[in-house]
Amino acid sequence: MGSIAPNTEPTAQSEMMYPAPLEANRDAGLSSTTNGDSAIDIETPILVVGGGPVGMLQSLMLARLHNIKSVLIEREPSTTTFPKMEYTNGRSMEIYRMMGLAKDFRAMANQYVPDSASFTELNVTSLVDSANGGPKAKMIHPWIRPSVEDMRAESRKVNDGSKYLEPHTRCHQIPVEAWLKRKIEELPDLIEGHWGYKFVGLEERDDDVVAEVITDGGRTVRIKAQYVIGTDGGGSFVRKSVGLESKRNYLDMTVAFVHIQSKALREAMNKFPPFWHINVLGGGLAVSQNEDDLFTLHLVLPPGGDATHMTPNELVDATIGGCNGPQPMAIDKGRVFLAGDSAHQLSPIGGHGLNSGLADAFDLAWKLGAVMKGWAGEGLLTTYDTDRRAIAHKNMDTVHFALANWAGKVWLEPIGKYGLELLAADTPEGEDARRGAAEGMAPAGWIHNQNGNMLGYQYLDKGTVIVEQEEGERPISDLDIYLPTTYPGSRLPHVWTKEGTSTLDLLKGDSFTLIDCSAEAAAGKVFEEAAKEVGVPLQIVRLHGEDNVRKIYEREVILVRPDMHVSWRAGEGVDAGDVTAENARNILKKVACL
Ligand SMILES: Cc1cc2nc3c(=O)[nH]c(=O)nc-3n(C[C@H](O)[C@H](O)[C@H](O)COP(=O)(O)OP(=O)(O)OC[C@H]3O[C@@H](n4cnc5c(N)ncnc54)[C@H](O)[C@@H]3O)c2cc1C
Repeated sequence: MGSIAPNTEPTAQSEMMYPAPLEANRDAGLSSTTNGDSAIDIETPILVVGGGPVGMLQSLMLARLHNIKSVLIEREPSTTTFPKMEYTNGRSMEIYRMMGLAKDFRAMANQYVPDSASFTELNVTSLVDSANGGPKAKMIHPWIRPSVEDMRAESRKVNDGSKYLEPHTRCHQIPVEAWLKRKIEELPDLIEGHWGYKFVGLEERDDDVVAEVITDGGRTVRIKAQYVIGTDGGGSFVRKSVGLESKRNYLDMTVAFVHIQSKALREAMNKFPPFWHINVLGGGLAVSQNEDDLFTLHLVLPPGGDATHMTPNELVDATIGGCNGPQPMAIDKGRVFLAGDSAHQLSPIGGHGLNSGLADAFDLAWKLGAVMKGWAGEGLLTTYDTDRRAIAHKNMDTVHFALANWAGKVWLEPIGKYGLELLAADTPEGEDARRGAAEGMAPAGWIHNQNGNMLGYQYLDKGTVIVEQEEGERPISDLDIYLPTTYPGSRLPHVWTKEGTSTLDLLKGDSFTLIDCSAEAAAGKVFEEAAKEVGVPLQIVRLHGEDNVRKIYEREVILVRPDMHVSWRAGEGVDAGDVTAENARNILKKVACL
């Protein structure tokens, strides 16, 4: 294995500063300059370039949550044939739920992996027994993890704000992308999808952007949009066309991903209990994609390794992974954005790639929606870069730490300490070695148990978040343990009300929500009036008498953004009735960047 990141735990999310949006230094403008609008073939409020999962989700969010039209272009004739991601985390599922798609998504995923299947990970000496009486495959250590059904039951039982509203889901990217495309085709009035359209350049003007596209029939098409979102993956041409070089990060490891369907492999692995991932000492793992005979193998290649010799009959596809970015996400004059892998391509470890791309799209969707509908200032759009790039850096740090920590503890240290032969031996010494190796690797189990990271990330840009009245320290979740809090910038914790409704289901994706737990609802009334004056959409949710919610929410009055993150809350010990009309107007203006 080549050099990987230092084995030091990433620091807590800090208040990082990033450079201002870049000035363009294009190497890909239009083939000829635009002359007025005469050469425009398609006009649209938003052009989404790249119909991978993030691009499709971007268009769906704009349509379903904000009723905003977009044109989506994808260079390939259809969706992916390579499985890539298979872990949709609980936070992403909450976002699907707000879009009204969680049930549908899960029904699709259940065709591959039922809700009763666990997220258990096994660590083994090899996937299968050696031939000709050689060493048998041995289990070193299991990380037993619950199924969707278990997580649901746990969430109903433990109502302390620390749980996901929606459990994670297992399903690989081939059916996920095909399903997303079907969802797009259900909304022809809001999403104009063009597969077989390749983006080749753009010109950003003061009031719009003109993009040039070559169709698979060789025709040139010009599309004029108010905004362009580059969701065209790690090799993003939108990114290149605005002069951003892809900086390869310090991951220097080559991994081949092989998608394989094999009854023989299934039978050979039946000696192990059911698993989601099975990690093999020395470097490699297999992902069970359907609880039966469909697997994706991740094979770490030696330095300079070449995957081209891997052509077994059952091989479906193979690719090589890498790590890029993070890049600035709002560029130049503020009309071009990047989301997903085009801005930050992560190693698959820990499953952050698509999950963080989905969160980019969600953040950008409400901000674009608010600015385009005229109730927020343009400044809101610049907070997309600062908010999401900070999270991209945090994820990149986590992934690098994970690679060093996990790969060291699981793939390398046991073999270095005991040797593979001893670890696989059917002797008392072999058993001792396996016990020792199990103890050594046990702490690396956090890799797919990052609830703190996935639910506890906070948006720190002061543009939409007000912390001036906060006196205490900002509570920070560990990577694995999520600390429920309503500190501004944090995701509102999910709590079941007495009637059994989740507080997250009371929020709306296209407006702010004021949660008022007071008896008099005085703050609610003041804010309602102020919102009308300022022109910011706001719904009031009264939760008086919900003592458990009130306790977990720490404050009597909380203002929540359309993306479920807290913008502001009343000071500690401040009565809801103390909020003045002027306070309320100023708060709403600030969080909408007016
Ligand atoms: C083995 C593996 C396992 C993974 N596991 C997970 C996981 O468990 N969880 C997770 O969250 N993530 C995971 N990931 C990462 C995840 O797959 C990516 O983060 C995700 O695909 C990124 O989506 P995207 O839409 O940003 O980019 P892409 O999926 O790369 O899509 C970009 C799209 O843009 C199109 N395009 C490119 N150029 C142009 C152009 N010029 N014009 C028009 N279209 C263009 C491409 O054809 C493509 O369809 C994994 C990745 C791998 C490789």
